[in-house]
Amino acid sequence: MKAVLFREHGGPEKLSYEDVPKPTIDRQEVLVRVQACALNHLDIWIRQGNPAYPMPLPHVSGSDIAGVVEAVGDQVEGVRSESVKVGDRVFISPGLSCWRCRECLAGRDNFCLSYGLVGAMTHGGYAEYVKVPFRNVLPIPGNLTFEQAAAFPLVSVTASHMLFALARLQHGETVLVMGAGSGVGSMAVQMAHLAGARVITTVGTDDKIPKAVLLGAHAVINHTREKVAERVRLLTEGRGVDVVIEHIGPEVWESCLASLAKGGRLITCGATTGAEVKLDLRYVYSRQFTIKGSYVGTRAELVKAAELIGQGKLKPAVDRTYPLKEARAAQEQLLSRKFFGKIVLSC
Ligand SMILES: [Zn+2]
Repeated sequence: MKAVLFREHGGPEKLSYEDVPKPTIDRQEVLVRVQACALNHLDIWIRQGNPAYPMPLPHVSGSDIAGVVEAVGDQVEGVRSESVKVGDRVFISPGLSCWRCRECLAGRDNFCLSYGLVGAMTHGGYAEYVKVPFRNVLPIPGNLTFEQAAAFPLVSVTASHMLFALARLQHGETVLVMGAGSGVGSMAVQMAHLAGARVITTVGTDDKIPKAVLLGAHAVINHTREKVAERVRLLTEGRGVDVVIEHIGPEVWESCLASLAKGGRLITCGATTGAEVKLDLRYVYSRQFTIKGSYVGTRAELVKAAELIGQGKLKPAVDRTYPLKEARAAQEQLLSRKFFGKIVLSC
């Protein structure tokens, strides 16, 4: 089969499109013929090499996958309540966990000691075929295309976990979502709006403003022209926002904190502009902030998000689709920030 892989860590030029053996499944696994695979910043981190993601090389990235079931292990029937059969249109839940430990049994599978992601811990969807444990295969909701079905898993489970499990966002609260054009941002704006919150968001270019409004943003700040925290103060009569959803890092960290109301909650799930930020503890305790880190979310949260997507209440935002062999150009577009929503590879 064809796959895009890298044999050593480094820049986009390390990606190579070649023939590799088709994966063979064990008795509790499912083989999926990949139709679409969405990009994530994670793909860039692991291509560059990151101690948090040790992996044997060569490696095939890709955590957000949709396709058609090609083969099912002979032990899958019977251990799985919903059936999964050859020919099913499916998307892949990216979280891998043991399903036996205390955290997994309590439904907190993203706290499992062995937690990892398809495409990081295992070979992913930059390929014609991928194999995953049977629990990771879920039916594509509604009448989504494969591209749309690949565009929502990681960002919707992440946004849901941040907004509801961690920030406990309430109807009527105000939330600042950083980067409406990012995958997580585009989903968080929609989810917060659907939950009855007032949504303020940021973009880097004016062409993204109407798109953010269409997703449900009540106010959009162009961070290249305006000071985010100042604008937030104006929009909230000086009070600040209850919740900040953040994934960008040092470039915006100070404006995120300065935008929070007293008692505000800041949830972070990424660091696309760097890993280290400044934090004045006196500011944190005197304004009674809560800062929480978020990593993906649970399988149950993903199932719930998929249901809302199937009902058309949330829409996966697909910016552009590339053929698999152009994965390098796709990753370069992701780094350019010139996109709105998800960039998808199509097989
Ligand atoms: Zn576990």
